[in-house]
Amino acid sequence: MQIRLYIAAELAVGKTVSLTQEQVHYLRHVLRAEPGAELFVFDGKNGEFAAVLSVLGKKDGQLQICRLLRGQPEKRDVRLYFAPLKRDCTEMVVEKATELGVTQIIPVITEYTSVKRVNTDRLRLIATEACEQCRRLDVPEILEPVGLRELLAQQNETMPLLVHLDETGQGKKAADVFDRITSAAFLVGPEGGFSQTERDLIARTSHTAGLDLGERILRAETAAVSALALFMCR
Ligand code: SAH
Repeated sequence: MQIRLYIAAELAVGKTVSLTQEQVHYLRHVLRAEPGAELFVFDGKNGEFAAVLSVLGKKDGQLQICRLLRGQPEKRDVRLYFAPLKRDCTEMVVEKATELGVTQIIPVITEYTSVKRVNTDRLRLIATEACEQCRRLDVPEILEPVGLRELLAQQNETMPLLVHLDETGQGKKAADVFDRITSAAFLVGPEGGFSQTERDLIARTSHTAGLDLGERILRAETAAVSALALFMCR
């Protein structure tokens, strides 16, 4: 199995980079890697490189960056604003959204959001691990939670179209919403949905569109992943 690691330091051919203690532990005790092993590494900016594990001690490790394998792909601006759910659902949404290419994730606190606290450091770790697994070369940005009003107040024509997932049947079909756009920001409500006040606020916000994913009421995590898949794989 090819070992792929995200390295926070800037990578370039010929550089020597140090591993974190967590990475040393993972290589040593989980993958049982030996010095001399070849890895694929990426820093989220400069592409993917082949590297050799030059040092692997009890606590420290070093890589020698050998050659460029893949250049950094063009970045698309695809965002996910979602009301935090129960921990495992939130983590599943972050992992799947990362696999599907989302570039920014912001948890949004709405009137009916049941979960108020979000462990963003843990979500960043989940996203990084998903990038390593799916061979993605950039890592999505995960920001601290914001309130829905604050998020909508920032929306304008220079931002990606804000596509709010609307289960009331008033939204448009994906083909109509996605026509001629290459970037989008998806807004998904909590288990209890958006309140009427919130729906009115969204309706009054410029540069937004409602997306209808069919007549069934999907779980928020299903809706988030389905919308991203529809957009990214079209
Ligand atoms: N208010 C709903 C539950 C909300 S489902 C109810 O009546 O029980 C959680 C979120 O998933 C919604 O806020 C919406 O953003 C999204 N969603 C669910 N089903 C959807 C559909 N068929 N089309 C678009 N979005 C949907």
